[in-house]
Amino acid sequence: MVYRLFSQFLSRSLVRCLLCGDSCMHSSGLCDGCRAELPHLHSACECCALPLPPSPSQSGRQCPRCLQHPPAFASARAAWHYAFPIGQLVQRFKYRGDLVAGHSLARLAAARLEPMADRPDLLVPIPLHWRKFLFKRGFNQAQLIAAEFGRQWRIPVAARLLRKRGAGASQQTLTRARRLRNLIRSFDVRQPVRGLHIGLVDDVITTGATLEAASRALLEAGAWRISTYALARTP
Ligand SMILES: [Zn+2]
Ligand SMILES: [Zn+2]
Repeated sequence: MVYRLFSQFLSRSLVRCLLCGDSCMHSSGLCDGCRAELPHLHSACECCALPLPPSPSQSGRQCPRCLQHPPAFASARAAWHYAFPIGQLVQRFKYRGDLVAGHSLARLAAARLEPMADRPDLLVPIPLHWRKFLFKRGFNQAQLIAAEFGRQWRIPVAARLLRKRGAGASQQTLTRARRLRNLIRSFDVRQPVRGLHIGLVDDVITTGATLEAASRALLEAGAWRISTYALARTP
């Protein structure tokens, strides 16, 4: 009895909120107060997840860019704005290898983004170029996020389906269309995807160019439909 109380006390006192340092009972590693204050993305373009001003009709909204040039992927969803403190947590995860922060984010985002209808057959993380992977970071943040989404959503994850080759010479002087073509060619699709609905997973959506290129590579390889998921979206 005493031992059990002591171990309960220990486990309670040792778990600290990742953001404020208060003791924290929630499995995500963030306390109730900090979780409530996260910059949730409520109002966004359904195509590319670009934050949009709130409006009474929240469904079926698209940004002007997607209306003019619909992206190759059918939808994009992000759990949060890329703003304080999500930006700081993502950077801790991505550049300082803080896997506890990464796991917290992935866990909370999985709960927010779970697809109820129109579920992908397979989740595929955006790959890192292997040199970056090996010498700089040592892990692929998108793969860790996809693994947590797959676990919570009960969807298989194909971590090696896409491979990223080097982008080659500087792309600065090329036209936008040419850069996109090069980016599409830099993705190898290494397993059959014909007829599949693929859920592409990345950490942060910024311009959407990487997701666009990976989606086109998958569609060219015969995939039926692409949905995309990320932790956060930049404005
Ligand atoms: Zn806290
Ligand atoms: Zn859009």
